[in-house]
Amino acid sequence: MALTLEQVKAKSATRLTGLHPAVKAATEALIVRSYACGVPILITQGLRTIAEQNALYAQGRTRPGAIVTNARGGESYHNYGLAVDFALLLPNGSSVSWDMTRDGDQDGTPDWREVVQQAKAIGFEWGGDWTSFKDYPHLQMSFGLKLSDLRAGKKPADAAVKTVYERIKPKEENKVSTEVKVSVLVNGKKVADGVLDAGTTYTPARAVAEALGASVVYDAATKTVKITSRK
Ligand SMILES: [Zn+2]
Repeated sequence: MALTLEQVKAKSATRLTGLHPAVKAATEALIVRSYACGVPILITQGLRTIAEQNALYAQGRTRPGAIVTNARGGESYHNYGLAVDFALLLPNGSSVSWDMTRDGDQDGTPDWREVVQQAKAIGFEWGGDWTSFKDYPHLQMSFGLKLSDLRAGKKPADAAVKTVYERIKPKEENKVSTEVKVSVLVNGKKVADGVLDAGTTYTPARAVAEALGASVVYDAATKTVKITSRK
């Protein structure tokens, strides 16, 4: 059975703790948008403390393993809650894939590329675009701040943060309409089509009034509809 959006979101929830609120909101939007493209993702890393970063830097240098980062503690946007790493969440809901050629939704575009496209549209920078050390799972928002700015304690400017929220705001055309088309009957006879929206029915006044034996006059000067019933 396919994973539901709620299941996909829940799997990444704990990884979003400690992120900058705008980055957290943007990451949640990325999970939703990727899912809508047919690509469930898992956030594998969010905030990383300075100590965790130093331990990661040691890997492949003073400790066993392959080198996975060139950043020491304080030298990664992860250390300031401004970066996340993602992987493709496989249909079983428990394994992930870093296969950049995988096309799980079989739409002819690799899933990885679909996620990166969505991420960039939201305003993330992608580690795969870096020239020195490519970090394909990595997405970050710098808000125009250099790492030296962040080390000095600078915070993202309100205007830059607002831009992110603007980008992830649901689009008007994506709003689910609550309108329902209805038939309007007077004494059992259909007189018009109407629309039911949030508990109110909208229908042509003339059709209903005349079916009830009333007369209808529209006064353009006062923009008034006058319905008069027979006495
Ligand atoms: Zn990363």
